[in-house]
Amino acid sequence: MHTNEKVEKIYRNPIKKLTVTTDQGNDLTCDKVVVATQPFQALPLLEEIAPKPLVDELKKWDKMDCYVVLHSDFSSIKDMPWVHQTYTNKKTGKYYITNTIKPIMSDIKIDKVITFVYNTENYDLSEFYYQ
Ligand SMILES: Cc1cc2nc3c(=O)[nH]c(=O)nc-3n(C[C@H](O)[C@H](O)[C@H](O)COP(=O)(O)OP(=O)(O)OC[C@H]3O[C@@H](n4cnc5c(N)ncnc54)[C@H](O)[C@@H]3O)c2cc1C
Repeated sequence: MHTNEKVEKIYRNPIKKLTVTTDQGNDLTCDKVVVATQPFQALPLLEEIAPKPLVDELKKWDKMDCYVVLHSDFSSIKDMPWVHQTYTNKKTGKYYITNTIKPIMSDIKIDKVITFVYNTENYDLSEFYYQ
């Protein structure tokens, strides 16, 4: 097992197996490789060796960023532990969702909740800064 090593390249070697090269200079030869990352990390490694339909599919998804906002707006969550909401992005016209959670680990009342906002276009506050 090689932990804490970054995979820098995956290539098909002359005996038609796959060789994984890491940033520690290790070359690992194997029959199959599972790339368990988001597409933006997988693509540079797979673009030259993976079947085109897989590469095309990965290109559609890139990555999902998650913004975590600690705040005290209880107007949606009220007394519930969790609320899932759908909004429309005013710029793109597309739907997006948020999750607001109130971690309840004890009887202690906390006057804050956490909201997860997914993808930068839905969290873009630049308009507010430049108005
Ligand atoms: C925005 C967002 C919000 C989410 N929110 C929730 C949630 O609220 N609750 C929930 O249960 N799940 C949530 N998920 C899903 C959950 O995070 C994923 O299902 C889970 O993290 C997937 O784990 P994984 O190990 O498959 O991949 P990852 O956690 O993505 O791990 C992949 C690892 O590979 C590493 N890596 C990348 N490139 C290389 C390389 N070249 N060499 C070596 N290592 C590399 C990365 O650094 C990373 O550590 C969310 C996912 C996203 C994207």
